[in-house]
Amino acid sequence: MRNSLGAMLAIGLAGLQFIAVLAVVFSSFVTSERALLDHARDLLSDIGTNAIEHSRGFLSPARGAAELSARLAQDRVIASDVPEQLERLLFQQLQLAPQFAGLYHGTENGEFVYVMRSEEPGPFRTKIIRTEGDQRTTELIWRDDDFNVIERRMDPDDVYDPRSRPWYILAREQLTTIWTDPYIFFSSQRPGITLASPVLEETGSVRGIVGVDIEISDISDFLARLRIGTSGRALIIHSNGDVIAHPDKDLLKTQNADGTLRFVDIQNFEDPIARAAFGHLMEGGTVSVEKETLSQFTYGGETYVSVVMPPINDNLSWITAAYAPESDFTSVIKHNRRTNIWIAALVAVITGLCGLGLANYIYKPVRAFAVRSALISQGELDPAEPLPKTYQELENANRTMMQQIAARRATEIEYGKTFDLTSRGMAQIDAGTGRLVRVNDRFCKITGYSADALSKMAFSDLVHPDDPPFLLFDAGQGSVPHEINSELRCQRKDGETIWISVNAIMIFNHDGKPLHYVLTIDDVTQTKQTEEQIAELNRELSNLSRDNTMGQVAAGLAHELNQPLTAITQNADSALFAVDQLAGSDSELHTMLEEIATQSMRAGEIIKALRAFIRRDEGIRKPFDLAELVQQTRHLVIAEARAANVTVDADIAELPLVNANRLQIAQVLVNLIRNAIEAISDCPREERVVSVRAHTQGSQVLVMVSDTGPGVDPSINLFTEFETTKSTGMGLGLSICKSIVQANGGKLWHEDRDPNGACFYFTIDVANT
Ligand code: ADP
Repeated sequence: MRNSLGAMLAIGLAGLQFIAVLAVVFSSFVTSERALLDHARDLLSDIGTNAIEHSRGFLSPARGAAELSARLAQDRVIASDVPEQLERLLFQQLQLAPQFAGLYHGTENGEFVYVMRSEEPGPFRTKIIRTEGDQRTTELIWRDDDFNVIERRMDPDDVYDPRSRPWYILAREQLTTIWTDPYIFFSSQRPGITLASPVLEETGSVRGIVGVDIEISDISDFLARLRIGTSGRALIIHSNGDVIAHPDKDLLKTQNADGTLRFVDIQNFEDPIARAAFGHLMEGGTVSVEKETLSQFTYGGETYVSVVMPPINDNLSWITAAYAPESDFTSVIKHNRRTNIWIAALVAVITGLCGLGLANYIYKPVRAFAVRSALISQGELDPAEPLPKTYQELENANRTMMQQIAARRATEIEYGKTFDLTSRGMAQIDAGTGRLVRVNDRFCKITGYSADALSKMAFSDLVHPDDPPFLLFDAGQGSVPHEINSELRCQRKDGETIWISVNAIMIFNHDGKPLHYVLTIDDVTQTKQTEEQIAELNRELSNLSRDNTMGQVAAGLAHELNQPLTAITQNADSALFAVDQLAGSDSELHTMLEEIATQSMRAGEIIKALRAFIRRDEGIRKPFDLAELVQQTRHLVIAEARAANVTVDADIAELPLVNANRLQIAQVLVNLIRNAIEAISDCPREERVVSVRAHTQGSQVLVMVSDTGPGVDPSINLFTEFETTKSTGMGLGLSICKSIVQANGGKLWHEDRDPNGACFYFTIDVANT
């Protein structure tokens, strides 16, 4: 199947472009989705790292402050047993970082200096526990920012003993700086953590412990300030499973049965999404995370992404975790992508329509050109009509096509002219039915039918009814011949029988399918008749030739025998007379001599009768056309002349009818021409021509047969019987010819031809009209 240019253009310009847009949109759809998720995870990872760094930064000043205080006390720069000095040092350290809730120093004998942030009546409050033996006093001092005392009073109810506190016990045990697990500060009821560092004697024993309380609510505030998508959250889980920092601080605490506060662990945490995301991390009362882990989970029909980070350091086994709904990151882009798809679809439709429009614009001239070509080929449009606006290439194609059409038309006209004007009968015969599709005038003239009548006939209808059918297009006839060269008898419309020669060739189309015969006919009736006449003449001549030869032999014999017979008769008569005169004549001898005389007389009579018989045809003379006879005799010898490479030139001008025996004159002509051909064929001359000429001379026609041969052998006594130079010759031809010519009232003679060759002349009487 051939593709339509219009369809190709439409698909090319509209379809492919449409597909291209869809492919780009689809690929960007997939890649953007993946990129978004990667981005979300990176973001969560950054947030985790950020939270860790913040926590670290938040806690590190505490370590510095505790260790500095412990060192100062240890090196006795500050007298740890002078509470006022210690209070001032701790006061200064407390002011260093806002996250410090309080700093304190407890000793082995239960003394305690504690500086903490306060509200009323001053921003700082100091608690000093002094011991002397079993006595202990607790003094509370409130100070302003400049360390001025605002209020001072004793607290006799205080029973606090630093040595019983976990931070003291732990630092004392480990003799190094320790971090407690996060807990809810008793005084402020806020979550916090305590860092404790031991103050050692030179002996290595513990003199006291310096501690720093750090409120970690700020870490929750920091987490609350983090923007993780629109609804994502970060939290910090302690390795024991407690959630110690979360944007919603209220969720962190719960009450024990005794009314004290504690952290809520992750498995009971009130943030259900956090529970779903990280609850599973808690196993056997601990949470352990080895490395940063990003994962995806579903909660409430929505997909979330989450990250958990390994602990901040060995001392702080805090695990930072964050989660966020996937849609927080993808929703904008999804919305954007939806918009893009609509825009792409719109662009695809618009560009598709533009492509179709463009395809139509490009194809329009081609279509117009195709329509024009179709109309021209159907003959419904003149090729001279102006070409519609089109492309250079089509114009070139059109030019070539027009040239071909012009050439084809010229050929058709030429063919039509040839067909109509040719001197031969021409017909076009349908290859399927054998009907005469088209005939020329000559065809009509030969057959006697009108063109109209012939158009309803098949060629086979013209064939003579007595002859077998010709060129029948029956289905059962098998394949028809592609070329015909034949002669056949036809019956004209008027019933007359004519001979025609037929030449036909089959014309095929491009696919080799037979279209029609082109057939030419010639009326060869005349030629046929002439051929018949020549054949007849030939037959008669061979009879005549036989008769003439026999006659001439007989005449010769009669002539030769006449004298001896006469002599015999005379001698027999004389002998008879002599015998009768003699006495005692022998009657038996007499009878014998009489018998000799009688028989010789009888022989003479037989010879006379034979001569009379041989000359029986001499008198049948009729007027005839000598020129026509010369042509016919020429036809008779033409085969042997061609074999001997001799041309017989018999150009005879118009002559009056001659009066003679036509057959005998034909015999003379054939004899003379044959002799001439034989004479030429014996010699190697280049000029090998026998000429027959005739013209009127008075009341006679003089006929001349000349040749370019060697001429007559001088030793030959021409026109004499049995004179021949040929091994197979009888030497009778010329004498017969002479007898014939003379019998017809003419003369036959020979002359040498100049420079060579022989020339025989004879005359015949012109017929009286
Ligand atoms: P045949 O042809 O049987 O010999 P003809 O009587 O026809 O008898 O001829 C006698 C002879 O005359 C020939 O053998 C030939 O030698 C000679 N003759 C006849 N015609 C020619 C000619 N045209 N040219 C030369 N010689 C001729």
